Amino acid sequence: MNHLFGPVPSRRLGISLGIDLTPQKACTLNCVYCECGKTDDLTLERKEYIPTGEVIAELKEYLSTDPELDAITFSGSGEPTLHSGIGEIIAWLKREYPQHRVVILTNGTLLWQPEVRAALMPADLVVPSLDAVSEDIFHRINRPNKNLSNAEIIEGLVTFCAEFDGEVWLEVFLIPGVNDTQEELTRFRDVFERLQVDRIQLNSLDRPGAMPWVEPMPRENLMAIADMLGDEVEVIGKPIVRRRCASFSENLRGRILATIRVRPSTIDDLAVTLGMHVLDIGKYLDVMIGEGEVEQHRGERGVFYQAKR
Ligand code: SF4
Repeated sequence: MNHLFGPVPSRRLGISLGIDLTPQKACTLNCVYCECGKTDDLTLERKEYIPTGEVIAELKEYLSTDPELDAITFSGSGEPTLHSGIGEIIAWLKREYPQHRVVILTNGTLLWQPEVRAALMPADLVVPSLDAVSEDIFHRINRPNKNLSNAEIIEGLVTFCAEFDGEVWLEVFLIPGVNDTQEELTRFRDVFERLQVDRIQLNSLDRPGAMPWVEPMPRENLMAIADMLGDEVEVIGKPIVRRRCASFSENLRGRILATIRVRPSTIDDLAVTLGMHVLDIGKYLDVMIGEGEVEQHRGERGVFYQAKR
């Protein structure tokens, strides 16, 4: 399987099969907190980055085994709506496997385009992110393609939320001292009132991202901001523990631990050594960090993971 990963235990979605539609890493943004590293192709060009037919063939083969899944999630190491075939794949999934919940994790930057909104319509849940309202903070956190305007992105989101019949959960990544000022939080509240989404989820750094200056926000601060922003605002929970996760492979966990016990490794190192997708490795590390088995530190080549002694 080249374009599917997992199933992995997801904090919000349960057991999730991932679909990665872009090469690492094509994105419209280059976020300072991105766990997939620097964006090499900072683009707005929508095209068939990988053959649509190949993705559908892999899904057909995998889903024919009748796996136990809570979600099929378009996420991956870049922005999935950059792929021009995403609408065809979603429509195929909902036609052939209507029992599965189809989820799109997107940075929402292309929702001002009618064809992107139309492509996502058959999905069950769309999770867009919005980390700033002000243009200057948007540039500081998300470092966008130069042709993107945050005002236009927000208008696209408002239109999408009005048109879409499924659920929308908005994700906001908070960075202390950057987008948590009183002024910016007030602007967020105004935008939230216009969006009327089903859930708003606050998130903060829990694995080191692309830039070392990005700090995690203490959970009590996140909770206080959630209270201030309104009833529908919540803080994203901890990773689900593996005891409840049938698809968590103890064998894979053991292989990751054995590797980082001998030599601290980056996610990319582990992906090459173990022949796994970087996002699979990341999800396993999330759970293992949550359970106190693994520690992390920043080195010259990025973030290194090692087994706790
Ligand atoms: S939008 Fe997502 S994939 Fe793109 S740079 Fe930001 S965090 Fe990374």
